Amino acid sequence: METKKPQIHRLLTAGLAAVAAATAALTSATWAKAADTEVNLYSYRQPFLIKPLLDAFTKDTGIKVNVVFAKKGMLEKIKAAGDNSPADAVLTVDIGRLYALKEAGVLQSIKSDALNKNIPAHFRDPDGMWYGLTARGRVLLLSKDRIKPGSIKSYEDLTKPEFKGKICTRSGKHPYNVALIASMIAHHGEEGAKKWLEGVKANLARKPQGNDRAQAKAIYEGVCDIALSNNYYMGKMMTNEKKPVQKKWAAAVTLTYMNQDGRGNHMNISGAAVTKSAKHKDAAVKLVEFLSSDEAQKIYAEDNHEYPVKPGVPRSELVQSWGDFKADTLSLEKIAKLRPAASRLVDKVGFDDGPGS
Ligand code: FE
Repeated sequence: METKKPQIHRLLTAGLAAVAAATAALTSATWAKAADTEVNLYSYRQPFLIKPLLDAFTKDTGIKVNVVFAKKGMLEKIKAAGDNSPADAVLTVDIGRLYALKEAGVLQSIKSDALNKNIPAHFRDPDGMWYGLTARGRVLLLSKDRIKPGSIKSYEDLTKPEFKGKICTRSGKHPYNVALIASMIAHHGEEGAKKWLEGVKANLARKPQGNDRAQAKAIYEGVCDIALSNNYYMGKMMTNEKKPVQKKWAAAVTLTYMNQDGRGNHMNISGAAVTKSAKHKDAAVKLVEFLSSDEAQKIYAEDNHEYPVKPGVPRSELVQSWGDFKADTLSLEKIAKLRPAASRLVDKVGFDDGPGS
């Protein structure tokens, strides 16, 4: 700004037309200075998945993305820094984490026609605070050898007496299971969901433990026959060149979508949000919009075996090999609000204590 002063002074003495010209020049200079050339991103999503997306964004817009890959404590970091937080946008998985950011008051509402057009309403916050970018299904993995196809068709079927001692799962307190239980509360009420959870607990083969892939391993090893898992872990096991033993775990099971004759399979999301303290808000919004575009949705679909949220973007070939399916369109916001009740239910029925406890 300092260097412009003499120039403006000369123009001011040269008549009204010149003044107008100088004003225009200054305005565009100010605008050019304000336009964001970079954006700061906190990401819970892994580099292998995010780098190709960010490279494509920079190529399209010229905006540089400074990304910090966080494993834990992103919310705490943003909260502690307050207005000084360097993060303009965040990328994370699970509705629970997105909603926690909203509840903590660290996000700002975004109004964007592109986002509203690209992302179905049940996958975004009604207040525009967070947006789902990929969808994942909580499916069942069924033993190819020991479970007759068609004998288990719904989450409700998990409580059938014939499946006693046959179910494996990770902790009931894990966000993926908490969201599923929250959806059961939404569909059956708290009492109905409690009975269901007690029934699943009674049918467990062992104490809830490990991650989703560990359950497929347990089926392979004959520990159990039925497991809860997110769909993309099946894709990761099927294509795992570094740990080829996981291909055997995947080969032992059939990925099966639930409730296809009714409300559809329970879904969760990964998503993005813009922080309240964003210093590069315009660029942050552009980035989230880009991640919902055809170009980015295709990269997501191919690289992580998730489902694009944007209607019309094809699923990857591998994901398509599991067949078409009907997804539950229950709003993720409703699920988020029922999470505390779901988490309490897990404690109340002592789900993580395992069967016979
Ligand atoms: Fe996961």
